[in-house]
Amino acid sequence: MSQIQQNALAQLLGLSADEAGAKEPETTLNLNLPLAPEPAETLPQFADYAIVGNSAAGIAAAEAIRKQDTEGTILMLSKEPYLAYGKPLISYLIEGKTDDAHLAYRDASFYERANITCAFGPECEVVALDADQHVLALANGVRVQYGKCLLAVGSTPFVPRSIKNWRNRENIHTFECLDDALAAWQDTVAATERAHAEGRKSRVIVVGGGLTGLKAAEALSHIADEAFVLTHGPRIMSKILDAQGSEQLIELLAERGVTVVTNTSVDEFLGEEGPCHEAKLTEGSTINFDVAIAAVGVRPAMGLAEQAGAEIGKGVVVDETLATTLADVYAAGDMTQVVNAFDGSKRPLALWTNAVRQGAIAGAQMAETPNAPVYGPDYAENIVDFFDISVMTCGVVNPPEGEGFQTIAYQGKDSYAMFVTKDDVLMGYVLVNHPERAGIYNALIAHHVNISELDPDMLGRAPRNLDFDAETRWNRLHESYPTALDRKGFAREVAALDAREEA
Ligand SMILES: Cc1cc2nc3c(=O)[nH]c(=O)nc-3n(C[C@H](O)[C@H](O)[C@H](O)COP(=O)(O)OP(=O)(O)OC[C@H]3O[C@@H](n4cnc5c(N)ncnc54)[C@H](O)[C@@H]3O)c2cc1C
Repeated sequence: MSQIQQNALAQLLGLSADEAGAKEPETTLNLNLPLAPEPAETLPQFADYAIVGNSAAGIAAAEAIRKQDTEGTILMLSKEPYLAYGKPLISYLIEGKTDDAHLAYRDASFYERANITCAFGPECEVVALDADQHVLALANGVRVQYGKCLLAVGSTPFVPRSIKNWRNRENIHTFECLDDALAAWQDTVAATERAHAEGRKSRVIVVGGGLTGLKAAEALSHIADEAFVLTHGPRIMSKILDAQGSEQLIELLAERGVTVVTNTSVDEFLGEEGPCHEAKLTEGSTINFDVAIAAVGVRPAMGLAEQAGAEIGKGVVVDETLATTLADVYAAGDMTQVVNAFDGSKRPLALWTNAVRQGAIAGAQMAETPNAPVYGPDYAENIVDFFDISVMTCGVVNPPEGEGFQTIAYQGKDSYAMFVTKDDVLMGYVLVNHPERAGIYNALIAHHVNISELDPDMLGRAPRNLDFDAETRWNRLHESYPTALDRKGFAREVAALDAREEA
């Protein structure tokens, strides 16, 4: 065990509970949450398009449908009572890094302008899908018939069975939606006030060192005196960081008040019901805490599709039009299975940008838009900030041994960059506090540029456009420019006009 790991564990097992708390947490959140209008008393019995899910994928689909079909009826259903909000921002909201105005992804007028009938709230949860009859059953007993249906229901938190007694405990929260974040915030504020009245520090533990767990820990560290992240493996964000990148991030988080304890998880939350303040760790010791967050992972929400008979893999199976194997049923976002562009493996790609892209394609396909885009093999591109630390990762970051991959790493004082190449093509990177020119690396990966033609030192410093020959610059990096631009980037018409004037 490294020194950092030993110190983190010693701190977790330490006697800090005897010391008085030092923080004075903000105990109010000025919220005016984007509540949805009450669902109409009578919902339509039929909708041309039924969209289940009011988030990244669902909204993108509705917008794409409206671009093509201005007449067809759209019914959007969500089990949450809010207007669409930016899920990646829920931790920033409770931390005070953003506010409710920025949290809103679309305002109330959006639904009206797009002529979308909303049915939002727990009573509008879709509890069954009958694909043969084209019918959705809602929690309130209403049945709605549809022409085409999009499932865009996201992910659900997953806690392995090996962690015992976490369910239905008042102070153990998941961190998957706005209500989860608000409940965790409220509980941590109350627990911190209680701890201080008792003359001790308050402590939050987060079980799970993935993106969600780290974001929750950052947010709650602003309220609780101590914030620990427990992760059963040796790394945090293990799917998108390599070992050294993870170590660098752990150090930077520790300097900002979040202590990560690796190779350690909770074996059992003690007691069986009611609040829980003690947990037995996998390495045998028992620790105290005030609030716990269960953020071990998420799974695609496949229940509805599975029960209706759709083909299921690591997510709901879709084709390039985002159609499921059920007639007239499409799926988009976190719940789908995506083919990895690098190794052909199939798994969900639980990222906001991917949900938006898939939703837009599904919507265009559902509305039978001429030349509608299709979805192909894909890969992850992550951009995330913890405190003031920027983390960017893309493509292959933990290459398998013996398959010809090479890695090159640059360690700075507070920064780290690592690149993975194969056959002189950049396949992936990890950038911690090293955001310069990430767009260029992305272009190199997307266009399979042969980097042996470039300055050999290019990965060691931020690459510049001039590292590429003129042809590559034009053909590969500027491909997205409209074709009406000339090589200097001027509109051809303007250039022609100038030429006439000069003549
Ligand atoms: C704390 C946190 C931080 C994150 N940070 C980032 C980040 O920094 N970058 C990033 O790219 N991604 C991030 N993500 C992931 C990102 O939020 C998801 O990839 C994205 O929200 C997926 O969009 P979606 O539309 O597929 O599903 P979701 O956003 O999960 O939306 C699902 C919708 O379906 C509704 N619903 C579910 N079941 C039913 C039902 N049975 N009936 C009716 N409605 C239902 C829900 O109410 C919701 O409206 C984060 C996620 C979390 C939880």
